[in-house]
Amino acid sequence: MNEFVISSGHAKVVRGASGYLDEVNEARKIVPKVAEYLKDLDCKVHTFDDDTSKTQRDNINTIVKYHNSKSRDLDVSVHFNAGTKETGGTEVLYYGDENIVLAAKVSKAISEVLGIKDRGAKKRTDLGFLKGTAKPAILIEVCFVDTKTNADAYKKNFDKCCKAIAETLSGKKLKDEAKPVEKKNIIHKVQVGAFSDEKNATKLAAELKKKGYSVNIVKG
Ligand SMILES: [Zn+2]
Repeated sequence: MNEFVISSGHAKVVRGASGYLDEVNEARKIVPKVAEYLKDLDCKVHTFDDDTSKTQRDNINTIVKYHNSKSRDLDVSVHFNAGTKETGGTEVLYYGDENIVLAAKVSKAISEVLGIKDRGAKKRTDLGFLKGTAKPAILIEVCFVDTKTNADAYKKNFDKCCKAIAETLSGKKLKDEAKPVEKKNIIHKVQVGAFSDEKNATKLAAELKKKGYSVNIVKG
């Protein structure tokens, strides 16, 4: 897949879950970072945060409308889970059965980089986002906001998490960051004369020294 619409779940006013993490704030950090990596992978990305909706219904409609207005291969919604699960974990929700494989892959990839439980792909037929978007769609529940181990793992591995999402969605690998090239001290030598008689060399050296050059006579 090469073209994506990714939006953060919920809205600025109609907030999501909160605990050790705030769902809306974190989703709004993940969306642009994943988009950045997808662009590095030569994908086209449209991103959306809902800043205006005042009700949940408006919120779903606004997000779905944005997604359906763009050309894309996949619709992605970023959420965080809640419910004080002792172990927490990652899960990815889908509606159409054709999306189960991708949903499972994304869930596995995130859970691996965060080192938390992989709760896997879950079919949901009741969610406005999954029902309303016309293209294949997944809804990512990154981790549990009220499970401390999840929140800590997420904070520590935010960047890896975004990379893993971008790589799994695109099916491509990001290049390792280029290591800075070690600068070597290269000395460039300039030769101004070559003489078989040492006296001539010494003479030229003296003249050059007078003019302020630093001179080395090299025999060879
Ligand atoms: Zn949510």
